[in-house]
Amino acid sequence: MKSKLPNISTSIFTIMSNLAQEYDAINLSQGFPNYPSSQKLIDLVTNAMNTGYNQYAPMSGNLDLRLAISHKYQLLYKSNYHPEKEITVTAGATQAIFTVISAFIRSNDEVIVFTPAYDCYQPAVEINGGKTIAVQLSAPKYKVNWDEVASKISSKTKMIIINTPHNPSGTIWSKNDMLQLQKLTNNTEIVVLSDEVYEHFVFDAGKHQSVCLYNDLKQRSFITASFGKTFHNTGWKIGYCCAPQNLMDEFRKVHQYNVFSVHHPSQKGIADFMQDEETYLGLNTFFQRKRDLFLNLISESRFKFQPAEGTYFQVLDFSAITDEHDVEFAKRLTKDFKIASIPLSVFNENKRDDKALRFCFAKTDDTLVKAAEILCKI
Ligand code: PMP
Ligand code: GLN
Repeated sequence: MKSKLPNISTSIFTIMSNLAQEYDAINLSQGFPNYPSSQKLIDLVTNAMNTGYNQYAPMSGNLDLRLAISHKYQLLYKSNYHPEKEITVTAGATQAIFTVISAFIRSNDEVIVFTPAYDCYQPAVEINGGKTIAVQLSAPKYKVNWDEVASKISSKTKMIIINTPHNPSGTIWSKNDMLQLQKLTNNTEIVVLSDEVYEHFVFDAGKHQSVCLYNDLKQRSFITASFGKTFHNTGWKIGYCCAPQNLMDEFRKVHQYNVFSVHHPSQKGIADFMQDEETYLGLNTFFQRKRDLFLNLISESRFKFQPAEGTYFQVLDFSAITDEHDVEFAKRLTKDFKIASIPLSVFNENKRDDKALRFCFAKTDDTLVKAAEILCKI
């Protein structure tokens, strides 16, 4: 049997989380919180189960949830997404991303991605016969070279995948980045997939740049989002996407047959939870405090860093410590020092190694203190 994805192997998140478990290491690798999720939210989901939300949700999602999502875009960005026609609830952002790509990418199409890139984009493009074209973001600032993007757009370019706040680097895009993207895509048929799963985690009074703030961009864009990330429940795998109706109609043709609809009680519970806007508006402050705690605690270590502008990941440069390859160093830290992280090279084309590791700070303060004690000894 010939593999359809010969170059894809086990994801780095599985590898590092398994290694952390095997060596009983503090796990700052895979991005998930180690503190409990909101009891109120759990009660609301339980209540949804007890009050009959146990059969198929509508194909496009529970309407209360789509109304709550639509309200959020109005509140935060003054942007309208029609709850019935332009929003679909998905099994996490991952399914939304896979479905967008499946709905639009054909054999030999090209998709521009910014590397280091989150790992689920490339396999989805390749299984649909397409090819990713990488634009490298350079450490430590990971800023976009827009001339390079322009030079890589061709008649084969069908999609550009962007991700701000950016996993793994923790950087955010500026207004100028969005305007450049808008300019380059004007008068083309390029679809933009804007992965905004960290939209609520932006620090130091920075502003999240959603594609929906730019009208021409919005017309060609999907936004994908994740309630697992937003509400500290990565195991629930509920997310959504929004797009103008002509794009969403195409999305739903695939969604209808690859999942049809997703877990109903969690959708109803999340809809009720979102009635209080503070549940998402307060997250920037919550995670900025954790970032600051972590960075203060490691300020005397030999790691170098630019404070994360968003996400719940902090990149640390270890070039002053060793010239080992980042994957080897990450594995050694897990086995010998009992702390697990994610090496960035795995997200780069040709596995380019910038001597950088990603640490997740969505952890209890106690865990961050213990992790920092270890990092200061390395
Ligand atoms: N995109 C990015 C950038 C991510 O970090 C993640 C992980 N949360 C996802 C998409 C997938 O989100 P989900 O867990 O909701 O599928
Ligand atoms: N989004 C998570 C991260 O970046 C990983 C999710 C997964 O394991 N696929 O760490």
